[in-house]
Amino acid sequence: MTHKGSCFCGAVEIAVSGDPVDMGYCHCQSCRSYSGAPFVAFTIWPSDNVAVTKGAELIGGYNKVGTSDRKYCTQCGGHMFIDHPKLGVVDVRAAILPTVDFEPKAHLSYAEAVFAVSDDLPKFVDFPAEIGGSGKLVDAAD
Ligand SMILES: [Zn+2]
Ligand SMILES: [Zn+2]
Repeated sequence: MTHKGSCFCGAVEIAVSGDPVDMGYCHCQSCRSYSGAPFVAFTIWPSDNVAVTKGAELIGGYNKVGTSDRKYCTQCGGHMFIDHPKLGVVDVRAAILPTVDFEPKAHLSYAEAVFAVSDDLPKFVDFPAEIGGSGKLVDAAD
């Protein structure tokens, strides 16, 4: 199964194949200030499963902390994906993959949340331990 996505203007296109290894929401301050949204929806794929199929020359990047290489279309500013080379995965914005059945599994960095979400998904203080976080969940009473 291949899913296609494009930036806001359509000049850059990507294709992802197989199944995502994770999906969910991130509430961290970096995601919020970069996206301008109260939290973001992500889909995580093995790096080899993500290909730029059109407009690669238009992709710009910004890497603030070394671990997250943010990619966007320089023509429209639309976000495309965030490369995480140390983890061997690529985070593709859920919103640009309309044919992926989005099934969020958790909220990440919920300790930084500014927008409370009422659902039954686990809410991690930061990240799961397998990707370098504490693995702790916020108080269930929240
Ligand atoms: Zn664009
Ligand atoms: Zn984040």
